[in-house]
Amino acid sequence: MNIHEYQAKSIFRSFGVPVLDGYPAATPEEAKKAAELLGTEKFVVKAQIHAGGRGKAGGVKITSSPDEVFEVAKQMLGMTLITHQTGPEGKKVKKLYIEAAASIKDEYYLGITLDRKTEMPVIMASTEGGVEIEKVAEETPEKIIKVQVNPLFGLLDFQIRNLAEALGLDKAQTKHFAVFAKALYQAYDQKDANMIEINPLALLDDNRMIALDAKMGFDDNALMRQKEVHEMRDFDEEDPAETEAGEYDLSYVKLDGNVGCMVNGAGLAMSTMDIIKYKGGEPANFLDVGGGASAETVAKGMEIILRDKNVKVVFINIFGGIVRCDRIANGIIEATKKVSVNVPVVVRLDGTNAELARDILQQSGIEKLVTASDLNDGAEKAVKLVNA
Ligand code: ADP
Ligand code: MG
Repeated sequence: MNIHEYQAKSIFRSFGVPVLDGYPAATPEEAKKAAELLGTEKFVVKAQIHAGGRGKAGGVKITSSPDEVFEVAKQMLGMTLITHQTGPEGKKVKKLYIEAAASIKDEYYLGITLDRKTEMPVIMASTEGGVEIEKVAEETPEKIIKVQVNPLFGLLDFQIRNLAEALGLDKAQTKHFAVFAKALYQAYDQKDANMIEINPLALLDDNRMIALDAKMGFDDNALMRQKEVHEMRDFDEEDPAETEAGEYDLSYVKLDGNVGCMVNGAGLAMSTMDIIKYKGGEPANFLDVGGGASAETVAKGMEIILRDKNVKVVFINIFGGIVRCDRIANGIIEATKKVSVNVPVVVRLDGTNAELARDILQQSGIEKLVTASDLNDGAEKAVKLVNA
């Protein structure tokens, strides 16, 4: 789960990570009020969407009066921002963050994430702040330095000194950086985050280090013990189909292709997507109905897949281990009663009660149904139908 910049900054504040003063706003009136409360000389109006690259797309504007904040807010709210992280459809701005403007001497990059290889948090820092870090990673990876943090010891002083040295900080700056880095690691650790990204980490004229931007992501499995974080969830930023699937314990991820896939088990889902690609098709989604799939979950899965207008064929690939194939077959029939199926549905069922399932499907009389004998046959038929 991800949160907005203004929410991450409120968490930062509570851990003592230096940030500038600011207030969220959902209307131009609230934005103006926020500027008046700040009472600074200049203000930054920042679009709150779950994506970076807002500055270049017109989602970060410096203004010099509360009235100007009002005008900029009016224009920015409701705008669709397209950045390198939003995808081509962009994201609609529904909330703003009004922040005091800072006078910046230098911009750095600082991030923390989980390194699955070493099973430890890794801190990444770079002098190349304020720009697309993805580009730096690709073109000049040596400019990103990494420090592994053993979670049992936490972030140690010598590691902070190494980071500061690599960033070229002087003694006074290092002192501020140490406070910053320690507090940030505490926030990462105690809030069960799996990603923090500060780009830029700004060095101000008075040598203070400030998080000018803030991105934070959390381990979904820890949300049950992170009530405060959980409440920050913004459903507006999530794909409604993915949220709905989650309510039924289905794992659904929308993709760009046109072969809808319904599979049980993540491993089988991955190999199903692989084989569709291998046969020359493009999966429209990843949908795992799980080990305990029932007629209801299958019906719900079908409903969600078919709502995607790009889907030209559905490939159901289920291996009945714990779940019985006849139940899945009944679920498919149930689904065709609920939602109108106007694309071919290729079905491959194998495992427990597979033959019974085949009989049920054959007797159902549903014309869009195409049965497949195995994974290879099913993928081939699905891709052929899409191209027909
Ligand atoms: P994004 O990464 O989405 O473009 P940022 O928050 O990083 O958004 O803002 C983009 C740029 O705007 C920053 O690199 C920084 O130069 C400038 N900026 C952001 N917030 C402030 C602020 N409070 N004061 C001065 N400049 C700012
Ligand atoms: Mg940024």
